[in-house]
Amino acid sequence: MYRNSINERVRYETCLSLMLAAAVFGTFAITDYYLLGLTREYYLLVTMRIVVVSLCLILAFAIARWGSYSHRLWLRALPLWILATGIILIVPLRPESLSTQVTAVVLATMAFFLLIPNLLTVVTFASLFLSIGFVAAAVLFAEISAVDTLRIALLLMMTNVVGYCALLRLERLQRNQYSLLNEERDQNHQLLKEIAHRKSLEEQLRMVAERDELTGLNSRSHFMKRAKALLQSSRLEKMPFSFFMIDVDHFKSINDTWGHSHGDWVLTKIAEVCVHSLRPTDVIGRFGGEEFVVALPNTGPDDAQVVAERLKMKVAELPLKEDMSGLSLSVTIGIAMANTESVDLEALISQADQALYVGKRDGRNRVVMCRGGLGNG
Ligand code: GH3
Ligand code: MG
Ligand code: MG
Repeated sequence: MYRNSINERVRYETCLSLMLAAAVFGTFAITDYYLLGLTREYYLLVTMRIVVVSLCLILAFAIARWGSYSHRLWLRALPLWILATGIILIVPLRPESLSTQVTAVVLATMAFFLLIPNLLTVVTFASLFLSIGFVAAAVLFAEISAVDTLRIALLLMMTNVVGYCALLRLERLQRNQYSLLNEERDQNHQLLKEIAHRKSLEEQLRMVAERDELTGLNSRSHFMKRAKALLQSSRLEKMPFSFFMIDVDHFKSINDTWGHSHGDWVLTKIAEVCVHSLRPTDVIGRFGGEEFVVALPNTGPDDAQVVAERLKMKVAELPLKEDMSGLSLSVTIGIAMANTESVDLEALISQADQALYVGKRDGRNRVVMCRGGLGNG
């Protein structure tokens, strides 16, 4: 995962390093000229430099196209081996400038380890090849003494050890950093999931608290909250406000005759009628049992009467289940009006309840408007 995550950066940096290495390696043709003049060795050196530079550029192109970090390891190893071979080949062609070349080899080794992004094993082998090859070439072609050989070998060994340790530390550090980052990301992800879960639980809880399970209407407590707010704003805007208390007539006998499930079905149908025949701005709630309540903002007594009559009629016209023939379904509706400053919701409920009681007493299946004690409503 770590390698995949750095793939693009490493690819880019490798190409850049290869182009830089090619430029530096090519530029040394100038010093070759000053050291060798236009000799056979100079031409050989320039040819070798051209080959190395060209190969580096070709490889930079190849890595940019196909050199994914996790595949084709040889593509990452090849440039290092080509550069190392190029550096080693300078020794037989320019044996008299060995001290400068030792510096160049030390610098190249450090660059292998630190500047060219690579795998530790790949770079270690290439670097060892460079050091051993260079010492061997120095012994064979520059004919250095045993002491000098030892000095150069020790120097290169130290360079390799330092480079290896530095790259090892760097790689460990980067991997640790990456794993910490991943851990943090995982934890964040978990946290977000937890938050989403809690939100959905909260939403479910809210639904349970606000909705009546059977009819889907507002629960009693939620209805009270919404109706109070509506009453308050109607008062502030000095608009009329009506309140319905709806009770299903002889509901107990429906339960007794057809069973509770049919009773429940009737309740859901009446709730649907309420929803469809009232305005979206009206708030409907199930008050309990077979009683429904409606808060109608912006509705005066005449409109309230018309709306309630229509609702009563729609309930009477409700198509019933086949096995419920013989049932004449009806509701009694008590209406209370709030036109004055002093009326609160509890008072309105009680007034509507009184009107409902009158309606029941007078034979049910009717709409009764409460006209006493409610200001001029
Ligand atoms: P009235 O015309 O005077 O209102 O008579 P009623 O029979 O409708 O009134 P009563 O208060 O005597 O009976 C109400 C019945 O409603 C009693 C109760 O068992 C039933 N009930 C209350 N809640 C539910 C419910 O959720 N489902 C069903 N199926 N019945 C319910
Ligand atoms: Mg009742
Ligand atoms: Mg009833």
